[in-house]
Amino acid sequence: MSEKMRTLTEPFKIKMVEPLKVTTEDFRKEALKAAGYNTFLLRSSDVFIDFLTDSGTGAMSDKQWAGMMMGDESYAGAKSWEHLERVVKELTGMPYILPTHQGRAAERILYGILGGKNKVFISNTHFDTTRANIEFTGASAIDIIYDEAKDPEIDLPFKGNINLEKLNELIIHHGKENVAAVIITVTNNSSGGQPVSMANVKELRKICNTYNIPLVIDGCRVAENAYFIKHREEGYINKSCEEIAKEMLRLGDAFIMSAKKDGMVNMGGLLTVKDEALSVKCKNLLIISEGFTTYGGLSGRDMEALAIGLTEVFDEDYLHYRIRSTAYLGEKLRNKGIPVVWPIGGHAVYIDAKQLYKNIPINQYPGQALVCDLYIKGGIRAVEVGSLMFGKYDDKGELIPATNELVRLAIPRRVYTQSHIDYVLDIFDDILKLKNQTQGYKITYEPPFLRHFTARLDKL
Ligand SMILES: *Cc1c(COP(=O)(O)O)cnc(C)c1O
Repeated sequence: MSEKMRTLTEPFKIKMVEPLKVTTEDFRKEALKAAGYNTFLLRSSDVFIDFLTDSGTGAMSDKQWAGMMMGDESYAGAKSWEHLERVVKELTGMPYILPTHQGRAAERILYGILGGKNKVFISNTHFDTTRANIEFTGASAIDIIYDEAKDPEIDLPFKGNINLEKLNELIIHHGKENVAAVIITVTNNSSGGQPVSMANVKELRKICNTYNIPLVIDGCRVAENAYFIKHREEGYINKSCEEIAKEMLRLGDAFIMSAKKDGMVNMGGLLTVKDEALSVKCKNLLIISEGFTTYGGLSGRDMEALAIGLTEVFDEDYLHYRIRSTAYLGEKLRNKGIPVVWPIGGHAVYIDAKQLYKNIPINQYPGQALVCDLYIKGGIRAVEVGSLMFGKYDDKGELIPATNELVRLAIPRRVYTQSHIDYVLDIFDDILKLKNQTQGYKITYEPPFLRHFTARLDKL
């Protein structure tokens, strides 16, 4: 990497463009009202900068698109499958590779086999589809990060680490035979995309060996995590991110990946396992629900693009740009006085709306108020991760708030340029001017489950 690359410049140029509609504030007010003040219900064509998620929203490279044309669509033993299998075997060191249509399909297969009534899964933090697939089997899912990592201000290098002492206690408490698996999520998506250290995973491996418990790596951002290890953990600065990811994945018994993240594709997933007997059970479920073992849930062209994406993601210049550009947004926001979860994680910036909109009571959803203001002022689509998403009601119908009122700005891969990010920063100047006069919201319709997706709200 040249010294010049240390400043923030996209290490790619644009070959194909997708026009964005420039809208007025009046237009956006109407669009948001029609969407019931829920950004999930907006049309994407009415959004200028879409930070809803980094999942499946990235841009593929010219090589990936060329690979799409070369996809081998044979039912069995396709060349594209051989390509993907070779790349994933090399990356994980695991012998059994199963392609799935996305991450949750891999979860359903693996946790369907390992789970069941009275079983527990222990993780740094279970992602919501992970938890749902585990609980669906009748098992329970326990999250254990270190207490200090829950403090949004404290500057620690590896806030995604699993609490090893707590893990030991839990295994003894539940009995090792009842612990179905330990799942380490890298980076830890549901707690701010914070990284996990190699030392933490090595210790975890030892504990899993002691009790003979399988270790699953939920590694859909394993490349981003490797970048943090390289720059924050002693002894890794001279290793490539690819070497670091390979070292980490070799510590697991199984690997689950939503390829919509570091796979650099718009759809796809992977399940890989070390154990032959387990692989046979998984393959049987794969065939029933996803597809034959050499394509699973994917077409040949998808497998080709994924095989190429998994190589491109480890480009050191790309990863530097990726992590630094996310941090650039977060650091600049912080300098403006916007309270952000610190340090900045890999794929998203989280804003503490409770701190920013102090005048809006929690039961009037300050996070959603910020989400709405971002859309009205700048056509920016973000998502609330607070009491609209996780709140519950007590017997009297009063809101039991979530732990935090956050707003997530998730950054799609290779999609937006530095000037888009600077535009977002400008919009936050308007947000700061507005912050004392902005209003709260009330829910006018909500479904019984996962209400944030389809709820409708109104201004108070
Ligand atoms: C996205 C994600 C999943 C689920 O993957 P899908 O492709 O959305 O089904 C699982 N775990 C983590 C950590 C994720 O970020």
